[in-house]
Amino acid sequence: MMKSYRELSPSPRTIMTPGPVEVDPRVLRALSYPILGQFDPEFTALMNDTMEMLRSLFQTDNRWAYPIDGTSRSGIEAVLNSLIEPGDKVLVPIYGRFGNLLYEIAERCGAEVVALDKEWGEVFEPDEVIAAIGQEHPALVLMVHGETSTGRMQPLEAIGKACREQGILFVVDAVATIGGVPVETDAWCIDAVIGGTQKCLSVPSGMAPITYNDRAERKIAARKKVERGLLVPGDAVSGNRRPAIQSNYLDLSQLQDYWGPARLNHHTEMTSMLYGLREGLRILLVEGLEERFARHRRHEAALMAGLEAMGLTLYGNPACKLPVVTCVTIPEGVDGEAVRSMLLSSFGIEIASSFGVLKGKIWRIGTMGYSCSQKNVLHVLGALEAVLIRHGAALPAGEGLQAALAVYDA
Ligand SMILES: *Cc1c(COP(=O)(O)O)cnc(C)c1O
Repeated sequence: MMKSYRELSPSPRTIMTPGPVEVDPRVLRALSYPILGQFDPEFTALMNDTMEMLRSLFQTDNRWAYPIDGTSRSGIEAVLNSLIEPGDKVLVPIYGRFGNLLYEIAERCGAEVVALDKEWGEVFEPDEVIAAIGQEHPALVLMVHGETSTGRMQPLEAIGKACREQGILFVVDAVATIGGVPVETDAWCIDAVIGGTQKCLSVPSGMAPITYNDRAERKIAARKKVERGLLVPGDAVSGNRRPAIQSNYLDLSQLQDYWGPARLNHHTEMTSMLYGLREGLRILLVEGLEERFARHRRHEAALMAGLEAMGLTLYGNPACKLPVVTCVTIPEGVDGEAVRSMLLSSFGIEIASSFGVLKGKIWRIGTMGYSCSQKNVLHVLGALEAVLIRHGAALPAGEGLQAALAVYDA
């Protein structure tokens, strides 16, 4: 006899991590709608809507703005695989874990990668990066906008302008920031941007919205490889002038033929995820970009006030704090993992630890998307206070919530 499995019923959680975060019920509903065929005009119209909404999100006039099917990392791999030719010199200024990821992927693409390292908890002075560009003359510069591992945010505009003047492609990982803080693709002269769904967009993990401009497209077009089975007699096949893009699944030249008017078959588009992304983007644009950024700032302020009033120390240089992630130094003598585990088991709240040298040293509290609300901020402050007292920390009880409420009252 077949074993009888329990019906799926995940516990409701308060998710205050840097992703994945809670999802708006309207997005969850969109995920359950009936499937449409991937060339059904009703579906291709939804694809076109999504591209239009992504242009607003990325603040760009770029022709190309569409999601890659896979997590944010698939978006990074698609962009880097398509834009980096073996032997290209690539400069990667690194100030946390995700900068190291860009370095690693660029290396796998066969680039000659030059790293520029910054101590964690800080970001680069734009002039430091511009000086390194002058010395190294790279073909591409890769940077993270919001470094979730350290809770820092890198100013990009001056670096983007320097790259544009020197004909260098500037690629930015804005996975953590898109939809939570301004990402001005065109104004900051960014040639390709990768966003994420499960962070400030509040859509489940599984897609990676990207955008790129004509400068990037020209490099991609020169590396285009045509799938033989799709040709009809008489089609002109222009051989690659440049080394072909290695990956088929993550080849932007083929993906844009599917997202563009040619509608050439590539993979089968993820119908349900696209419904979810489109609904998440619709909700975001109805809220308004400026209003959404202001909401993220307001709840960040309340959270920081509450944590500091509890006597906790925030980690990192405050001048470059990432608004959507707040890092807290774990107090001396407190077992950070025991605290996280009690928050989850007794209060249903999840906060994050960190990576590498910061593992066991800080907690990271996200205020992203649908999770970024007064209810959640007050809930996490109250619960953290109770759990810390339970773990022997001496705290001025009651102060944290009062300080946060004062921010909300102001
Ligand atoms: C979360 C994150 C990623 C990786 O995203 P996945 O969806 O897990 O692949 C990359 N870069 C940054 C800055 C992130 O915060």
